[in-house]
Amino acid sequence: MNPLLAPASSAPLIRREVAGLPRYDPGADPDEVAALSGSGRVIKLSNNENPFGASPAVAEAVRKALADGVSRYPDPSGRRLAQAIGASLDVPAERVVLGNGSENILELLCQAVLDPGDLVVTQAPGFSLHETFPRVMGARVRKVPVTDGFGFDADAWRDALAEGPKLVFLANPCNPTGAMLAAGELERIVAGLPDTALLVLDEAYGEFARSCPGYPDGLEALRRLDRPWIVLRTFSKAYGLAGVRVGYGIASDEALIQALDRVRTPYNVNHPAQEAAIAALGDPAHLADTVRRTALEIARVSGLLRDAGLKVVPSAANFLFIDTGRPADHVARELHHAGVIVKAWREPGYETCIRASLSTPGDNDVFVRCLTDICAKDTP
Ligand SMILES: *Cc1c(COP(=O)(O)O)cnc(C)c1O
Repeated sequence: MNPLLAPASSAPLIRREVAGLPRYDPGADPDEVAALSGSGRVIKLSNNENPFGASPAVAEAVRKALADGVSRYPDPSGRRLAQAIGASLDVPAERVVLGNGSENILELLCQAVLDPGDLVVTQAPGFSLHETFPRVMGARVRKVPVTDGFGFDADAWRDALAEGPKLVFLANPCNPTGAMLAAGELERIVAGLPDTALLVLDEAYGEFARSCPGYPDGLEALRRLDRPWIVLRTFSKAYGLAGVRVGYGIASDEALIQALDRVRTPYNVNHPAQEAAIAALGDPAHLADTVRRTALEIARVSGLLRDAGLKVVPSAANFLFIDTGRPADHVARELHHAGVIVKAWREPGYETCIRASLSTPGDNDVFVRCLTDICAKDTP
């Protein structure tokens, strides 16, 4: 049968909440950009990945895991990894949940907690999945804007929290701005939370921020509080394991972990991934090296771009949010022609901004040169 004649028969089956969702934007496809730029080499600065790679111990652990064979299901509870994480943080393994990336845990939290019509509060500009997953459940999402200087707006947060959210997604540092919430600002948010709200503190970039003065370790800030919370962390960013998909959460209590266990697919973290994460956790020197090299580049590249007259948000993470003063889509397209991929921001009010993950010094220099050329060429 001619596929062009097949009726789109499944459309009426799709839930209204799902039909209205935007698709996740992973950034431009490296193969397409390579073709466009005519250069074999693409500099991918669109996904906040670790340009220095994972610990060498990871490749060895994955090789061994594959040599064990792939015919058996992985450990459904990821016990050894959960215990290693728990031991490193002085938390019982029963309060640790593992995910196929921490994105998976964001999704599980929404499934376990949200009823249609519930309110979720998060920040704008923000991480798209903090909005998408609640909307899948039919929840309402209120996004608190940052200040004009891309900082934390305490008054706006107080007002939003007073509306009684059931779930609060807070990323610290924030993605896409890279800005961090200082200890006092986190305290103010916690003080304004309704007793019944679950605070989800997303520390995907926490390993980078921990070296920044005033950054509150979320687990230390929350662990003594008598209220529901979960801190999310990931092996995707500073540990350089984005390709194997492992994230984890540390929760206020075992009941929350048990609820997540009921909704998650039982084998959500595969065997090589569990072994990779255990190996990565066992090489803190590699992590420290990544964090140190990244911080040097963040400072150096921020300085170069500011010297060129660009507005760069102070970053506690491994990426920069840059207001280019001209349509970000145009800037991103021009960069593609030079083989450089960044993420043009599309949230209303921020369409002149790009987010660029930093890479090695050489690649960062290419990015700075291309971006400053583009911005010098066409005045907004
Ligand atoms: C990258 C990121 C994550 C999760 O990434 P995973 O690869 O799924 O662990 C979560 N939150 C934020 C804010 C991120 O930027």
